[in-house]
Amino acid sequence: MTKLTFRPAHGLSVLTALLLPVLAAMTPAALLAQEQQGSVVVLPVAPPVDPGAVPSAEQIDRILGQISTITGLKLKHPVPMTALSKAEWRQWVEERLKESAKPEEIKVEETAMKIFGFLPPDFDLRASTVDLMSEQAAAVYDHKKKRMIFVQGAAPDEMQEAVLAHELSHALADQHFDMGRFLEKGPHSDESESARLAVVEGQAMWIMLEVMLNRNGQSLTKNSAALELMIPSMGKMAASQYPVFEKSPLYLKESLLFPYSAGLLFQQAVIDKLGRDAFAAVLRDPPKTTQQVLHPAKYFAHAAAASVELPEFDGRNKLKKLTEGDVGEFDMRVLFEQYASKKEAVELAPEWRAGRFELLEDKAAKQPVLRWSVLWSSPESARKALSLYLKVIEQKSQQLKWTRQSAEAAEGSNQLGGYRILVDGSRLAAIEGLR
Ligand SMILES: [Zn+2]
Repeated sequence: MTKLTFRPAHGLSVLTALLLPVLAAMTPAALLAQEQQGSVVVLPVAPPVDPGAVPSAEQIDRILGQISTITGLKLKHPVPMTALSKAEWRQWVEERLKESAKPEEIKVEETAMKIFGFLPPDFDLRASTVDLMSEQAAAVYDHKKKRMIFVQGAAPDEMQEAVLAHELSHALADQHFDMGRFLEKGPHSDESESARLAVVEGQAMWIMLEVMLNRNGQSLTKNSAALELMIPSMGKMAASQYPVFEKSPLYLKESLLFPYSAGLLFQQAVIDKLGRDAFAAVLRDPPKTTQQVLHPAKYFAHAAAASVELPEFDGRNKLKKLTEGDVGEFDMRVLFEQYASKKEAVELAPEWRAGRFELLEDKAAKQPVLRWSVLWSSPESARKALSLYLKVIEQKSQQLKWTRQSAEAAEGSNQLGGYRILVDGSRLAAIEGLR
């Protein structure tokens, strides 16, 4: 669904500062109590370094040595490093967004997300993306210019080495596998791009944690207990420290965290299965959907997404297509979590099999029309999806009027125009914004 938000298509791979409080809370003191209860992770506190300064050659060599042991890969040539102030970083985000997407493209994406219910009606996606990225970055690996950027003061001293390990992992992957090609030259679908980003960030997260744990003679390998301790607190702990993040719609928060949290768990699963070969294997043969990232067994089974037809309606040929894209398991999970419940969302979303949308426009009236379809594993799952989507309609609509509501179909109108939602076998198909 999302196309440009948080995407490194602009050559960026950002380590979100949101993750740092989670890591900081995993220092020996913070973990002592947990360890006494039988937990397994202790992260050592790294020696303090000057905040804002780029790391020393000695630090870089030491961490690179560890990363090479973990991955079996060696850095081929040094990586230039620079530091940016927070103001310079914000300016950089603005410029990159300008280069990578036209304002009207961002508007189109925003419109589609609003009709679905992912964003509130008055939300400004472009401005919020800049605010969120400016608030969030701790460090960046720039695939285009092959350099590392540290945002001054973004990471506490004791986290500088973790940040360095994360960014060096990106540099190493880039020198061996060309991350620009990996992220930009793959299939141009939302789902494929999300899955590839999760590979890149999940891998850097995994290596970063492994570097920290190895110092204590511990490892993440075959130790998913360590991650289960950590993942639930991602985002939660940081919310109070990051007001823009805290106020953001659930879909943006989850989109921001997905590559790191789901990517990390995915990486854990492939490393447990393939060992050190996993690093190269997932870059050569990446997952294709958010579903494969969320359920590594589906990745190993090469369960490709099915295809699904969009619903037809009278007068469609008179409309112009503004954009199109995927609706993935991740999208369905977040939408149902937001409007129904997390429990129902987590139960139903894995039954997703394929999904697409198209945003159309009535040329004369400038009226957007959204049509979308999601294929489910069974007619029963499609009916369940309809029942949850009715909750979405109820909460996202103003001036809501139902004209028909059954277990297999719903019709009515809201402020956007008419809508028609239908269960057709295992497919749930919808048209919204009809005039
Ligand atoms: Zn990263």
